[in-house]
Amino acid sequence: MKGKIFSFIDNSVPLLIELETELCKRPAISPDAGGEGELDKCVFLEGWLKAQGITQLERFDAPDERAKGGVRPSLAATIPGKNDAGPRLWIMSHIDVVPPGEASLWKSDPWTVVQADGGTRPDGSPLGPRLIGRGAEDNQQGLTSSVLAALSLIKLGITPSRTVKLLFAADEENGSAYGIAWIIKNKPELFRKDDMVLIPDGGDREGAGIEIAEKNLVWARFVTHGLQAHGSRPDQGANAHLAGADLAVRLHYGLSEKFADHDPLFEPDYSTFQPTKKEANVPNINTIPGEDVFCMDMRILPRYPVKAVLTEIDRIKTEVEAKHKVTITYTTPQCMESKPTSADAPLVKLLSQSAAEVYGVKTKPIGIGGGTVGAYLRNEGIDSAVWCRIDDTAHQPNEYAIIGNILGDAKVMALLMID
Ligand SMILES: [Zn+2]
Repeated sequence: MKGKIFSFIDNSVPLLIELETELCKRPAISPDAGGEGELDKCVFLEGWLKAQGITQLERFDAPDERAKGGVRPSLAATIPGKNDAGPRLWIMSHIDVVPPGEASLWKSDPWTVVQADGGTRPDGSPLGPRLIGRGAEDNQQGLTSSVLAALSLIKLGITPSRTVKLLFAADEENGSAYGIAWIIKNKPELFRKDDMVLIPDGGDREGAGIEIAEKNLVWARFVTHGLQAHGSRPDQGANAHLAGADLAVRLHYGLSEKFADHDPLFEPDYSTFQPTKKEANVPNINTIPGEDVFCMDMRILPRYPVKAVLTEIDRIKTEVEAKHKVTITYTTPQCMESKPTSADAPLVKLLSQSAAEVYGVKTKPIGIGGGTVGAYLRNEGIDSAVWCRIDDTAHQPNEYAIIGNILGDAKVMALLMID
């Protein structure tokens, strides 16, 4: 059976080129990035899948008046398995793409798939047959692989051992508020706790890393209110910049010391607390600023609750306020906690076996810095792994997907479906 599936997939190159080409023609850019949203691409995909024999389809339209049709559509396909009562396998890709960026950096039209072969990567390794276009890799590679895997079973008349669900989600590139986050909130019955979710939207060239965890993510913006004065009379003012700088240094070292554990799953293997953006204060050198703003990017090992970190921030902030006679307020434009999926979860084991079978690769579970769609599902207690084999040209000019990776990933996915 595996042999038949693999040769079906190997013979599907014209089909995958057709699908990639049609998807690429329909830019699905978020209104946040100046686009119309996903409607045209989603409607096309729905029709194409139906024509191919994937007929159980369901649309989820998150309202967004800025987008074409007033909606941000996601699409789910169901391929019923022999055992529908047990855990189901989801493969979740996203249909939205980022804008092309600097047009002059593209060697071809970003919205027209171009086939290429030959050439080398920056490190000199040879490049095989590939498809170039915005979205070709991120995330149409994963999308196309999941469709090929499902079609291989359907066309060969094979019923998957577990029910397979393909989810084509909107709004991944801008935070998922109209995508997976909206679906989880508004269609909570869609996922079952024992479902497993593969997200083919991140990986490496070997297909070795299986991402199962991410750090908790906090962005914070600190506003220090002091008292403006002449540069020569600090005694008459309260230097907001000095206080803010003191706070940044104390937070960086104080939080690093207090939340000091290491976890080899992650790289780097510790929590990071970095002062980042600095907003302008006074325009001239001889005025002591009365107000000052800086931001921090914090990536915290999942073992530390975000609340504990915020409590420590408040404690340090109070010290600085007293010392500098200022008041400090802060907001958290991003604040997200993320539960890990266990390295021993059935999904991870199955994925590891299947990747070894197709690619001969030895996989390893990894954690990343945070802020991906996996967190939404993991926080619901649903095992989720981010994996695929990619060159990682996402968001770059001349983005490409290696055809061999689309085929290989489809085989891995098919193995997950028939296990
Ligand atoms: Zn992506």
